[in-house]
Amino acid sequence: MIVEQDARFREQRERFNLRFCCEDCVLFDPARGCAHGYPTLKHHTAYYEDPEAQLLFCKDFDLI
Ligand code: SF4
Repeated sequence: MIVEQDARFREQRERFNLRFCCEDCVLFDPARGCAHGYPTLKHHTAYYEDPEAQLLFCKDFDLI
């Protein structure tokens, strides 16, 4: 599901320390990528430094 990123999301992401990117997923290995073979480009923390980036949540995300 793709969702537009807005100011409310960014504010709540900071306030609640929301984790939803690959770096915080147990299935992610920095050297090998996603253990399930999914593309990770739009799930990395750095991708969301762009305030215009659309939100793309991974259904397999599993918090470390
Ligand atoms: S399951 Fe999703 S969030 Fe986890 S490493 Fe793979 S692509 Fe990233």
